Amino acid sequence: MSEMDCVYCGKVITKRSKEHIVQNALGGLYESEEICCEKCNNFLSKNVDAPFTKIFNPIISRIDNFTKTNNKKSHPSCSGKAIYDNEIYDVVIKDGKVVSCIELGRKLKCDISKLKFEIVAYDFQIDNSSFKSGIGKIAFNFAMEKGIDYEILSKGISIKEKDGEVDSILFSFPIIPFVALNPMDDYIELNTRMELYHNLILFSQDSNLWCYVDLFNTFQYYVILSNEWDAKEPVLETYLQLLQQIDRTKPELYIRKPKHILAYAMFFNVEPCMNLEEFKKRVEVAVQKESLKKNMSDVLSAKLGYDYFNIDKIKDMKKEEARLYLRNEKGLSLKSLLLYFDEEDKFKDSTFRQVTCVGDKYKIVSYPLLINKLLKTGSIDVREYTYKKFERVNAFLAGIDRLNEGDDNDDKEQDEI
Ligand SMILES: [Zn+2]
Repeated sequence: MSEMDCVYCGKVITKRSKEHIVQNALGGLYESEEICCEKCNNFLSKNVDAPFTKIFNPIISRIDNFTKTNNKKSHPSCSGKAIYDNEIYDVVIKDGKVVSCIELGRKLKCDISKLKFEIVAYDFQIDNSSFKSGIGKIAFNFAMEKGIDYEILSKGISIKEKDGEVDSILFSFPIIPFVALNPMDDYIELNTRMELYHNLILFSQDSNLWCYVDLFNTFQYYVILSNEWDAKEPVLETYLQLLQQIDRTKPELYIRKPKHILAYAMFFNVEPCMNLEEFKKRVEVAVQKESLKKNMSDVLSAKLGYDYFNIDKIKDMKKEEARLYLRNEKGLSLKSLLLYFDEEDKFKDSTFRQVTCVGDKYKIVSYPLLINKLLKTGSIDVREYTYKKFERVNAFLAGIDRLNEGDDNDDKEQDEI
């Protein structure tokens, strides 16, 4: 197959069309032109993307500052839960407001849109085939964009034709939900500041080719793209895109020692210099130019905070002492910390979400394979982890609602935030 043939229908691509790796409706900015023809692109957007992206309406409808989405003006409605008069009700929410509640409407026989509800949760319907197909498509697109041969991926795609035309396309790659299995991941996913982003990691392990897909820092899955990968050709590609507008206000820098300059220089990715005014100017320029596309390790390091681990302090300790310190202070084991940081304290792209450690000896094993094994034996509960992640995103979204309500009511509620 030449580069100019559509991967789905096999016809020569006459008119190039842009395909988003992560669906545009989800705020995805990453585009590729080479994957398919315009006709198949339109077919996919109607039959795979539309039912998939609908699942995320609760998030899409709350985030106004999605950059570059095609449907900026339309705010979809979604279902959720809200409290009225100390009772929880199933409701329909639009633009952060309850617009319908069948149960309460019947009970009170009045226009419920005038009532003051407190939204507590948004519903996500993820147990359907549209969801699986949508996640699989993202993994497939990312692999294609990174130059993986179509033949290797083709087993996960079923294409049906009718009268010489594509009639159905289904992405049926096996999917494993992510569950945090080490204290470090538990901390990153459940205890650091909530931030909306999409994260993709394409990696090979022996004969397996995986893609880790994390949407909105909430929906996290492993897609197995192939189990016939050539182990002699390791692959590692990452992509991370923020979804909220970047705060471009002048950052406050607390510089007391030269080493703080070095830390900020690393954080903002600028050349360090000892002239404080000049250094501050450089940081300002960097903040203005900042793009939504990020290095994965930068985002994760920033999430953890430069001072979080107090690595200088740990370095001076003896091994046993360091282990105790981490256990006592943060409940983390040294091994689980070393899994993700190199000798220079830099976050490693090469292990994150790919391997984890198990047992007393902290044996390093494949993350997705371990999850799969534990799921099969019933040793872990996906629901517990997923529930915590949903709780986080719901609290985050409800927080945005409260912020907007505050605007309406002359900032009455702003103090609470
Ligand atoms: Zn085509």
